[in-house]
Amino acid sequence: MSSFLKSASKQVTDVRNFLRETAGGNGIKYVSEKGAKHLIYIPYTSNVAVDEATGAQVATKSIIALKGDVHEWTTQDGKFKATICLKDVVRKDDNGVILNDGTCPFCDRISDAWDIYNYRKEAEELSCKLTGDQRKQHLEKTFRTFVDERKSKEVRTYMYILVVKFRLNEAGAPVIGSDNLPEYELKVMKLSASRVEKLQQQIANTGSELPDAELIFEYPNVEDKRLIVSQSTTTPVFPNNKLVVKYPELQNKINQDVAKFEWDGIEKAFQEWQGMSSIEAKTTMDNMFEKWDEYKKQKLVNPTAKYMEYLVETPSAVPSLGGEGIGAQGIPVVPQMSAVGGAPVPNIPVIPTVAPQVDAVAAPQAVPVAPQVAPQVAPQATVPVAPQVPTVDPNAVFAGTGSAAPTITV
Ligand SMILES: [Zn+2]
Repeated sequence: MSSFLKSASKQVTDVRNFLRETAGGNGIKYVSEKGAKHLIYIPYTSNVAVDEATGAQVATKSIIALKGDVHEWTTQDGKFKATICLKDVVRKDDNGVILNDGTCPFCDRISDAWDIYNYRKEAEELSCKLTGDQRKQHLEKTFRTFVDERKSKEVRTYMYILVVKFRLNEAGAPVIGSDNLPEYELKVMKLSASRVEKLQQQIANTGSELPDAELIFEYPNVEDKRLIVSQSTTTPVFPNNKLVVKYPELQNKINQDVAKFEWDGIEKAFQEWQGMSSIEAKTTMDNMFEKWDEYKKQKLVNPTAKYMEYLVETPSAVPSLGGEGIGAQGIPVVPQMSAVGGAPVPNIPVIPTVAPQVDAVAAPQAVPVAPQVAPQVAPQATVPVAPQVPTVDPNAVFAGTGSAAPTITV
C-alpha cells in the first residue's frame, strides 16, 4: 500500500468524465462562435404545483438553471477575475475552521472604489486643458474608463442555464447518431440578466416559453467578441419543427441525461464558482486598495497628500488616448501628452469612431422552402441596412428530415 502509484493514482472509470476534466471544464461551457449557427434546446424538469385559487394540480415546467451574483474585476497585470458575491455565504472546512463568515470584502470595498473614481474624476477635470466639445467628449470618455476601472464593482447577475446543443453538419443539418437520434451535448450557457430578458421577450413573441423551447442562434462573422454576441440573432423554432417533436425518443434520451447532470464541476468552466475564502477575498481587496489606504492615512496628517497610483501607471498604459487619466494638479505631466503652456493641445489623437464593418446578414444558404417559418427575430444591435437579401430560413436545418410530429408525453 505504500507505493506512490497506489497512493497517487486515480482510476479512470468514465471516459466522458475524464475528457470533461482534462478539458479544464470547458467541455461544459457553452461558447458563442463567430459565423456559426447553433441549434439549442432548453431542457426542463416537470413539477406539479397546486393552484392556490382553485386547489387544482397544475403541471409546470422548470428550466435547470442557477443564478449567480458576480463581482468582476481586473488585476493589476490585466487579468480578468470574477467571484460569486460572498455575502451571506457561511462555510467551514472539514475541521470546522470557518472559511466564509458571511461577509463580502468585495461589497465592502465598493464605496472606496467610487471614492477613487471621484478622486480621479476631479483630478482629470482640473488638469484637462481642452475646451468646448473636445473637452466634453474627452471627459465623458475618460469618466467611462474610470467607471470600468473601479477596483471593486457591484455584482452583476447572471443566469447559468443547462442547454442541449445539437451537433450540426456543414450543411447545418443535425448529425444523426447510431441510435437514429440527433447527436447533442449538454452545455451550460451563461447569460446576463439583460440577455435573458431579450431572449424571454423573443420567445414570448412567438407564443412559447423558455422551457422546452428550441432556438437557433446565429452569430455574425466578425472578430470582436462583444459584437459576436450583441449582433447575434435568436430564432425560436416553430413547435412542430422541433427535433424533440420529430424524434419522440429524443426527449426521453435528453431527460435521462439531464437527470444525471450535476452542477459540481462547473467551477472549472466558470471561475466565479470556484469561490474564495473570506480571508483570501479580503487579502485580494486589501492588496488592490493598498495605495488608496495609504493615501487616506497620510491625508489625516497631511492635507496635501496625493493619491499617486494611476499617475504612475497610466502613461504607458494608454499613450494614444489623448491624455486620459493624467496630470492631476501639481504632478508633472507626461511628455508625449503635454498641453504646452496651458493652450489646447492642437493634435489630440483622434479615436476612431467608425464602427467595424459588419456583414449585417449572414449569406443565405440555398435552402428548400420549409412550410412554416418562425418569425425572424431582429438582431439586437443596430446594423446598417443591407441590400435586400432573401431571409435565411431559420428552419432550414430540418430540410429533408421529414415532418412527422407525433404527440409526446414526458
Ligand atoms: Zn459581494
